[in-house]
Amino acid sequence: MSGLDQVASGGNIIDCDVHPGVPSLNALMPYLDAHWRDSIVERGIDSIETASYPLKSPLTARPDWRGGEKQAVTSPEHVARDVFGALGADMAILNPLYGVQLILNEDMALALTRALNDWTREQWLDRDARLRASIVLPMHNVEHAIDEVERFAGDRRFVQAMVLVGSETLLGRRHFWPLYERLEKLGLPLGIHAGSSYRNPVTSLGWPSYFMEDYAAQAQGFQSQLTSLITEGVFAHCPALKVVLLESGVTWLPPFMWRLAKFWRGLRFEVPWVDRPPFEIVRDHVRLTIQPFDAPDDARTIERLMDQFNSDDMLLFSSDYPHWQFDGSTAMPRGVSTAVTQKIKIDNPLATYPRLAEASS
Ligand code: ZN
Repeated sequence: MSGLDQVASGGNIIDCDVHPGVPSLNALMPYLDAHWRDSIVERGIDSIETASYPLKSPLTARPDWRGGEKQAVTSPEHVARDVFGALGADMAILNPLYGVQLILNEDMALALTRALNDWTREQWLDRDARLRASIVLPMHNVEHAIDEVERFAGDRRFVQAMVLVGSETLLGRRHFWPLYERLEKLGLPLGIHAGSSYRNPVTSLGWPSYFMEDYAAQAQGFQSQLTSLITEGVFAHCPALKVVLLESGVTWLPPFMWRLAKFWRGLRFEVPWVDRPPFEIVRDHVRLTIQPFDAPDDARTIERLMDQFNSDDMLLFSSDYPHWQFDGSTAMPRGVSTAVTQKIKIDNPLATYPRLAEASS
C-alpha cells in the first residue's frame, strides 16, 4: 500500500524529514568566498569529509536508496523518484546533515554553514518546486545564528531553523533566547535533529564504543534538551514558539514526561514560570517526526502509545529518507487510524509550519 492510499481525503502529504546528501566538500567550494576557498586548500583540508552519519553504516542509506558509489543518493531527481514517487509525498522538508557543526574554528564554521545553506537553496530548492528546507544554524555564536536566520527569512521556502541535539550547551540557556525571539516572530519552528557537534559525549557517562550505542543514546540528548527548554522557561518567554524533534524516536516521550511531572510537582517552587505539568506544555509547543518509529510492529501496542500521547496533534509524517528506518514504501506505523493518519501526513505539518501552509494554499 502506498502512502497515498492511507489518507481519507485529498491534500498535500508532507514529508518533514528528508536529507539531501552533500557529495563532498568540493561541492560547497563555489559557495565560499575567495578567502575561505584559499584557506581550505592551503590548510590541506579540502579532502576532509564531515558527514554526520558514517557513510557505510547501514543506517545511513537504505540499499535501494544508495547511488552508484554506494553512498546516499545526492540529487533532487532521486528525491522525486523515491519520496514523491514511491513514498507518495507531495512536498518535502530538507534537513541538511553535513557536519558543519563539528568544526572548532568559529569563523570557518560560519563560512561553511553559510555555504551549505546557499548550496541547499541553489542545488535543491531552485530545482524542484515541491522542496522546502531548514536553515542550518551556526550555533557556535548566537549572533551568527541570528544573522543566518535573517539572511534567509525573506525566502519563504525555508520553513524552519535547525540545530543538532548534541549541542555545546543546553538549548534552554538564556543566551539563546534572542534567537528564539527572532524565530517566534518570523514563524519559524526550531527543529532539533539527532546528531552531535561532539563537544560532549553522546551519553551522560562518557563516550560509547559503537555507533549502535551512539544512535540509541540520542534519546538521552532529546530528553535533556526538552527538560532544559521547559525548565529554563523558553516556552513562557516565547509562547508562540514551536519546537520539532527530528529523528528523535517517539516512544520515550510519554514515560519521560511522567517522570518529569513527578519531580515538577515536588520542585516547582524553583521554576514558577513552569505553571502547568510539563506534558501539557509539550503538547502545545513540541512536535515529533515519526521515523524512526521505535515501537514493536503490532497495532495494539501502537494504539496504546497513541493513547499515552493523549493528542493527535503531535506527530509529523517523515520518511527520514535516505536513512534506513523501514523497508517498503509505507513509512506510517501499522494500527494508526485513517483519521489520525490524515492528521499526521497533512494537517499537523501544515499547523506546525506556517510557511508551508502559505505555500500549499
Ligand atoms: Zn532525519
